[in-house]
Amino acid sequence: MSKVPSFWSPRIAGLEPYVPGEQPRIANLVKLNTNENPYPPSPRAIDAICAAAESGLQLYPDPESTRLREAIAIRHGLDSKQVFAGNGSDEVLAHAFFAFFQQAEPLLIPDVTYSFYRVYAQLYDIACELHAVDDALRIDDAALAARAAAGCAGIVIANPNAPTGIGLPLSRIEALLGACPDRVVLVDEAYVDFGAESALPLIARYPNLLVVQTLSKSRSLAGLRLGFACGQAHLIDALQRVKNSFNSYPIDRLACAGAIAALEDEAWFAKTRDDIVDTREGLVLQLEDLGFEVLPSQANFLFVRHPGHDAAELAASLRARAVLVRHFKQPRIAQYLRITIGTRDQCTTLVGALADILPAH
Ligand code: PMP
Repeated sequence: MSKVPSFWSPRIAGLEPYVPGEQPRIANLVKLNTNENPYPPSPRAIDAICAAAESGLQLYPDPESTRLREAIAIRHGLDSKQVFAGNGSDEVLAHAFFAFFQQAEPLLIPDVTYSFYRVYAQLYDIACELHAVDDALRIDDAALAARAAAGCAGIVIANPNAPTGIGLPLSRIEALLGACPDRVVLVDEAYVDFGAESALPLIARYPNLLVVQTLSKSRSLAGLRLGFACGQAHLIDALQRVKNSFNSYPIDRLACAGAIAALEDEAWFAKTRDDIVDTREGLVLQLEDLGFEVLPSQANFLFVRHPGHDAAELAASLRARAVLVRHFKQPRIAQYLRITIGTRDQCTTLVGALADILPAH
């Protein structure tokens, strides 16, 4: 091991890669740690994947994912030239960082947000300026807009934010777009379907808006790896140039077929999304009864803390009871737990385990 770094390019040793939530093999695990959807994907998606597996796997897929981009465009009232698709939204985000944010000024991101943003910035040598969320962990969009107006490489926010679950209304996003008209404002809408307002309707009016979404959460397809970006054609062209300088075929035939079928099954999407939102609202009340403070969530997870209990210890006690939640050892949020909304039964198990762990409250 000691000799390995001599083979590495100089910057590799300094990278601090993203660490995803664990995917352990524990029997009867209640897995509420990585914001997956607890329900399976649309049966139509499974059928389409099986059909695609039976014909054509010896051939490369369409490098432009034309049919998929058309399906996304139709669903969102866009032109397919305004849609870019990639291998999960993580890949789409990485390409966007490379395409838009390598500028002389720093990129602006909130200090509490999806931690992968700082990893991409480091990978592509992009300076980041972190903007403190307020004491309620809300993005201070007015301060961000004022700072952006003074010159920046762009802005990246998740809406709703991760891991807080708190959403920003569209009017505030418009203020950010107006503050830096010559730089890209990237709005990561990984969780938007669970209750926040999408910025997609703003695309026609804002040439600097890039909206990124994923089929991993509200379409139950985390295992298929499908994300996409929407924006005016000049932004999508830039992403295509990066993609075609990196991997011609990031989306395989199975993913393409499954994603199209999932996007077309509006009824399955609406039913599973509504179940998750209902379960979330019930879980908020149960956790509050147990003494937790729960941030207002527009996502498929809750961000909570207990005034009388250390978050890391609670996470460990839950793990000992085969319930996984996410704890981030990061400044400002080290006393919080992020809990993915599971099925009603999974949430009942979680609440039972917590009632068992917390001394009589
Ligand atoms: N953005 C945010 C805010 C996320 O939490 C995640 C999931 N970890 C992603 C993007 C990436 O999702 P995927 O690559 O599965 O599309």
